[in-house]
Amino acid sequence: MCSLATILLALVPRGDGIPDSFRFRYTPVSRSVIEARLGKYKGNDQQREAALKQLFAEAGCDDQHLSEQPVKGSKLPNVICVLPGSSDKVIIVGAHFDHVSDGDGVVDNWSGASLLPSLYQTTKTDPRKHTYIFIGFTDEEKGEVGSRFYAQQMTNEQVSATEAMVNMDTLGLASTEVWASHSDKQLTGLLAYLAKQMNLPVTGVNAERIGSTDSVQFSDRKIPSITIHSLTQDTYNARILHSRKDKLSAINLDNYYETYKLVAAYLVFLDQTAKRE
Ligand SMILES: [Zn+2]
Repeated sequence: MCSLATILLALVPRGDGIPDSFRFRYTPVSRSVIEARLGKYKGNDQQREAALKQLFAEAGCDDQHLSEQPVKGSKLPNVICVLPGSSDKVIIVGAHFDHVSDGDGVVDNWSGASLLPSLYQTTKTDPRKHTYIFIGFTDEEKGEVGSRFYAQQMTNEQVSATEAMVNMDTLGLASTEVWASHSDKQLTGLLAYLAKQMNLPVTGVNAERIGSTDSVQFSDRKIPSITIHSLTQDTYNARILHSRKDKLSAINLDNYYETYKLVAAYLVFLDQTAKRE
């Protein structure tokens, strides 16, 4: 079941790259579907990779557009679903599906990976200018192996055609956060702006102490990137990541669904606003 949300954006100040007024619509996937997909975290990374591929197929990504990219140095591939657009400009949306052996890895990072098929589903409802490439990365926990491989094999032409890389890692512990110090300022500004229009919370929290994440591989190639997470001082102090506490019950489902809705709208919003300087 879907509800159609139309977001009206008006009275936008001039000069920030956003048109004076425009509207877009997006059709969010229902909360029950989002939660059912989150529930498919079980098993080892091989099973999670297969589950992610299956979820993409269910969401309508057919064999022509869905692929597994073998990754040097990893036993498991990246899972890639392409949504073609009308221009040669690209937006990459990524999240790692692997997890450490402690805990179930629901927060870190099935919370991000299992949203990819739903985000694909929401983005494909209308024709888009950008081509969207949704990627489930392998072996982030072993040093961003999958995202490093992907970013390094991109040609210079592909790099310059990529206007944004949106990375999700560790969602649902609290409301939406941005890793501000490692995110492109324009992309962060657009997310903050949209969140305000949608009356959804977003704040910038820097998560330096928990290490790195996949977006770094793309910013290293000068691709504007943003990482969305949910770590606050409190959730960090609770030491959920990489521990037995990382299980389904650690997720606040209200926060999680809000983050999905915000990111879903953001991806559609970026189709109209993303522009490399
Ligand atoms: Zn992670």
